[in-house]
Amino acid sequence: MNRDQLNTEDNPLEAMLYHFDVAARKLALDEGLYQILTVPDREIRVSIPVQMHDGSLQVFAGYRVQHSVARGPGKGGIRFAPTVTIDEVRALAAWMTWKCAVVNVPFGGAKGGVICEPQSLTDTELEQLTRRYTAAIIDLIGPERDVPAPDMGTNPKVMAWIMDTYSMHVRHSSPGVVTGKPLELGGSHGRIRATGYGVGLMTRESLYRQGLDPKQCTCAVQGCGNVGSVSAESLHALGLKVVAISDIDGALYNPDGLDMGAVRAHLRDHRDLSGLDCGDRISNADLITLDVDVLIPAATENVITKDNAADVKAKVIVEGANGPTTPVAENILEEKGVFILPDVLANAGGVTVSYFEWVQNRLGYYWDERDVNTRLERIMVDSFQEVCGIADRHEVSARTAAYMLAIDRVSAVYKLRGIYA
Ligand code: GLU
Repeated sequence: MNRDQLNTEDNPLEAMLYHFDVAARKLALDEGLYQILTVPDREIRVSIPVQMHDGSLQVFAGYRVQHSVARGPGKGGIRFAPTVTIDEVRALAAWMTWKCAVVNVPFGGAKGGVICEPQSLTDTELEQLTRRYTAAIIDLIGPERDVPAPDMGTNPKVMAWIMDTYSMHVRHSSPGVVTGKPLELGGSHGRIRATGYGVGLMTRESLYRQGLDPKQCTCAVQGCGNVGSVSAESLHALGLKVVAISDIDGALYNPDGLDMGAVRAHLRDHRDLSGLDCGDRISNADLITLDVDVLIPAATENVITKDNAADVKAKVIVEGANGPTTPVAENILEEKGVFILPDVLANAGGVTVSYFEWVQNRLGYYWDERDVNTRLERIMVDSFQEVCGIADRHEVSARTAAYMLAIDRVSAVYKLRGIYA
């Protein structure tokens, strides 16, 4: 692969392939395994007709991509967003393979997406869209095959509809077909907060590694959805001063620290920051280049790019979102000595507790939140140490180290299983 020919600034799949190539070369990965791991095992595109509330019919496009099911069932969220593309779903599916391998949970990687604007759909339209999409991909999913979960634009309510639709088809309640369900349906304690809580843990470890005291640090969080809001709360609880948080329209900034009680109370009832005035209004672009110690991109892909990387002032970046930093930006930041904790580890708290949820569903035995969080912390801190150990031994970035660990684990399974012919 010629990395220079990839369009890594705009296309998340090509960005993923770039990082893969860097790590695969370091590992001197076998050519055959290279080929296997750079294409999805399976992908499907489905048309989803929905009867809209005004009586019209609208057909939505949906995808499910299984990047790898070698280490276990496919695992990964379902994204409902107008920006979904097949290449984005492919990238996200591959990132799930690497993420599950980095934290060593027994899953492969998969992802789904439907091109739609969930906020503009009525509840009934959203339910019909979800159920019809589930019916369309039903042969691919299942507790032993591929286990969806929430992602951008989806939530526990959507997971409940998927669980119900699948269960009606297989004629028995099957809670293990999705994770991120409401507690009453077999969801796990701690799952909703897990990604942001994990981002907090990984920020703490990153700061220790860089010799920084969390209590002396400031941070800015891009995004106030599930991941951004819980990350901000976790960082505040660790003693960092959260000076900015944003929604899609812009950010709130207070150099003395935002009133996190007010932010939390507001976000309990609202999806964005409008109406909250505990800081100055700045743009999302300004948030990225704020003079802070820690930057948490927790919104979407490609927000730290070749155009703004040189202006980033943070010393530590912890990727709450998947794919927020482009490869060119990463090279610029590395030259400046910025420590970047990559998405496949930084935001792996979500899938780790999804794994706990799936285990609890299969056992029919449920854990309390303390149990969940203790196990989550152990897995994430151990994985952090493993990744940093590889980074130090091979003198590579934490991202390359995480990919090396993941590719090594996935390859080992292919080698042991052999190729069925
Ligand atoms: N969508 C989340 C992610 O990107 C969670 C996936 C899961 O829990 O399966 O990691």
